[in-house]
Amino acid sequence: MAGAASAEQPYLGVHVNAPNSGYDVVILGGGSGGYAAAFRATELGLSVALVEKDKVGGTCLHRGCIPTKALLHAGELADQAREGEQFGVQTTFQGIDMKGVNAYKDAVVSRLYRGLQGLFKQHKVTLLEGAGRLVGPTTVEVNGEQVTGRNLILATGSYAKTLPGLDIDGERVITSEHALTLDHVPASAVILGGGVIGCEFASAWKSFGVDVTIVEALPRLLPPEDEQSSKALERAFRKRGIPFKTGKPFEKVEQTDGGVRVTIQGGETIEAELLLVAVGRGPTTADLGYEEQGLRMERGFVPTDERLRTNLPNVYAVGDVVPGLQLAHRGFQQGIFVAEEIAGLNPAMIDEMGIPRITYTSPEVASVGLTEAQAKEKYGDQVKTLTYDLAGNGRSQILKTAGFVKLVSVADGPVVGVHMVGDRIGELSAEAQLIYNWEGFPADVAQLIHPHPTQSEAIGEAHLALAGKPLHVHG
Ligand SMILES: Cc1cc2nc3c(=O)[nH]c(=O)nc-3n(C[C@H](O)[C@H](O)[C@H](O)COP(=O)(O)OP(=O)(O)OC[C@H]3O[C@@H](n4cnc5c(N)ncnc54)[C@H](O)[C@@H]3O)c2cc1C
Repeated sequence: MAGAASAEQPYLGVHVNAPNSGYDVVILGGGSGGYAAAFRATELGLSVALVEKDKVGGTCLHRGCIPTKALLHAGELADQAREGEQFGVQTTFQGIDMKGVNAYKDAVVSRLYRGLQGLFKQHKVTLLEGAGRLVGPTTVEVNGEQVTGRNLILATGSYAKTLPGLDIDGERVITSEHALTLDHVPASAVILGGGVIGCEFASAWKSFGVDVTIVEALPRLLPPEDEQSSKALERAFRKRGIPFKTGKPFEKVEQTDGGVRVTIQGGETIEAELLLVAVGRGPTTADLGYEEQGLRMERGFVPTDERLRTNLPNVYAVGDVVPGLQLAHRGFQQGIFVAEEIAGLNPAMIDEMGIPRITYTSPEVASVGLTEAQAKEKYGDQVKTLTYDLAGNGRSQILKTAGFVKLVSVADGPVVGVHMVGDRIGELSAEAQLIYNWEGFPADVAQLIHPHPTQSEAIGEAHLALAGKPLHVHG
């Protein structure tokens, strides 16, 4: 690499604007991973060209995190309108005006998009708009021009997958992308996939009044989460009237007069207005010239080493194209990491288990670190767990939410996993990830002060109990 920087002395690259002149870094894809890399690299004095075929911000801003959370918030308001009486507030729920919900959601996305475009200008990133293709080891062709970098970062993201024989028509059989632009509230829906995206849509749609059913091939909802969290979400969904069929692989879908008929293993059929396919996301890597340049691929993903290097010299990959958790904040962190690596700052490696995970259903499910089962596999009978019930937490009682904070720790050792369920509990991930990533011991956290009355006290109480000095714990 030309001109490595140190922490004290950033690399003083020359900013060039013509598309085909040499850049320190060329980035293919302007989603969470790509733009984070671009901003950090320019902060370090590197010249950067970023190629984006659609809108900077990628899936998360335009078709993922932000619009789904806006829908979920509208759903929360709908539920609060229904439940006002429980709090002595006279409210009535009159219905969902989907046009209004979409206007609110789109306004949030637009405002953030304008802000992001401003940040591109501020960071002096050369933005090349168009579909890029790899035509040399570190050369991308876009709009008939070639742009070469001393380093290349692949950040082309992911797309909604489907199953063999299951055709997405965008009307009756849809993906999350179509679901975000529906102009009406469907009467009923089958959701194929009980992972994060499937459960979030089930939660929002149920709040909107949709008759939803989830079909999941694996034995439980949110399969990668701690079993106790999955069970708690299943209990809450049952209570909310969201049926789910787990351990039931999908067999086929047929069109009916009113929508679709979905058949699952065992022959059971479910009829609904539409089928949302949420069976995971595949990497966007096909026909981009990756293989032609000798890039090693695995099931379409771009495998990297721990420093996010691919098998090609000076070629890195970040975000959803890299096997692992498909989360925006993972992409941000990987983008920052690679920029610093290129600048010679030797950044600390990212621990994949230290990346917090949140499902924004009602109730929310949040976690970081190992599940109890993973911890037992690694540490055997040294594993200790403690579950603090939100029944003992004042703020949670005020909000009328059930749930828990569960700690997984190693005897005389650190906390290696935090698992939480409850409305608004995702916000506690900020503290949970510090505890995991700083390898906090129960006694370290027990002496920290949590403000009263907040849900964060549940984290404090759980650590007090695990450290042998429980405060608000019955029995
Ligand atoms: C419904 C849904 C909800 C989600 N909710 C959350 C959430 O709450 N929290 C969370 O952390 N994550 C969430 N995610 C996941 C998150 O959106 C992704 O992990 C994140 O966007 C990945 O970032 P990325 O940069 O790898 O890819 P992307 O954001 O997909 O960006 C890739 C970019 O590359 C561009 N591109 C692709 N090919 C080319 C080409 N040939 N030339 C030029 N440009 C190209 C694309 O246009 C795109 O802009 C959600 C995803 C979905 C679908």
